[in-house]
Amino acid sequence: MFIYISGLKKSYMSGEVKTEVLKGIEMQLEKGEVGVILGPSGSGKSTLMNILGGIDRCDSGKVLVDGVEINKLNENQLTDFRREDIGFIFQFYNLVPNLTVGENIEVVSNISKSPFNIDEVLKAVEMQDKKHRFPRELSGGEQQRVSIARAIVKNPKLLLCDEPTGALDFQTSRSILKLLQKVNKEFGTTILMITHNAAIAAMANRVFKVRSGEIVETVVNQVTVPAERIEW
Ligand code: ADP
Ligand code: MG
Repeated sequence: MFIYISGLKKSYMSGEVKTEVLKGIEMQLEKGEVGVILGPSGSGKSTLMNILGGIDRCDSGKVLVDGVEINKLNENQLTDFRREDIGFIFQFYNLVPNLTVGENIEVVSNISKSPFNIDEVLKAVEMQDKKHRFPRELSGGEQQRVSIARAIVKNPKLLLCDEPTGALDFQTSRSILKLLQKVNKEFGTTILMITHNAAIAAMANRVFKVRSGEIVETVVNQVTVPAERIEW
């Protein structure tokens, strides 16, 4: 299994009060698959993704990515894992405002080791003519395309997308999902995507339904729907 999570628990303390946000997550995803985490706001989806991407640490349980038990990595190893192996895409794009599109991709820490160059990834997301623009000059959908280019330039093992279409209209969402599907097919990148839109689950190989810190159901789709045919 490319992703193997078992008994994963995470609590947050606020003052004296301890809140258990993840209560024993069990989850598996094969290499090259698309997984969707579906669940209501506050159910622990982002916490789970942040642990998987090495942004946060769990309290207990097992988390393996491509055979590496990430909760056993020291801080430096975890930083390397996050930089080299993981691509992140967020709802609000998180581009650096005072850098151009090209520079936003260039600042990726290990770009020197990248198998792709900036022009190649901009072409892949159909943004080759916007290389010298600033984020404020782009629409939301265009900014998300740039953030996808930035995430894939290092050819990550795993692409983590936290509500990538949460701020976009249906038409633009569809084009972004189409692009993610293309990245999955052409580069073989394993993708795990958070959404609260059940329609998007149709494009996933596996769907993980989360309710208050637990996976209450895992659905394996034998057939996945192309993004352009998702019914909203
Ligand atoms: P989701 O992404 O499903 O909306 P989150 O994982 O962001 O949910 O949050 C789950 C719960 O954990 C929420 O109740 C949230 O308030 C709490 N939480 C998330 N991050 C922190 C934090 N850093 N400190 C304290 N509580 C947090
Ligand atoms: Mg969230």
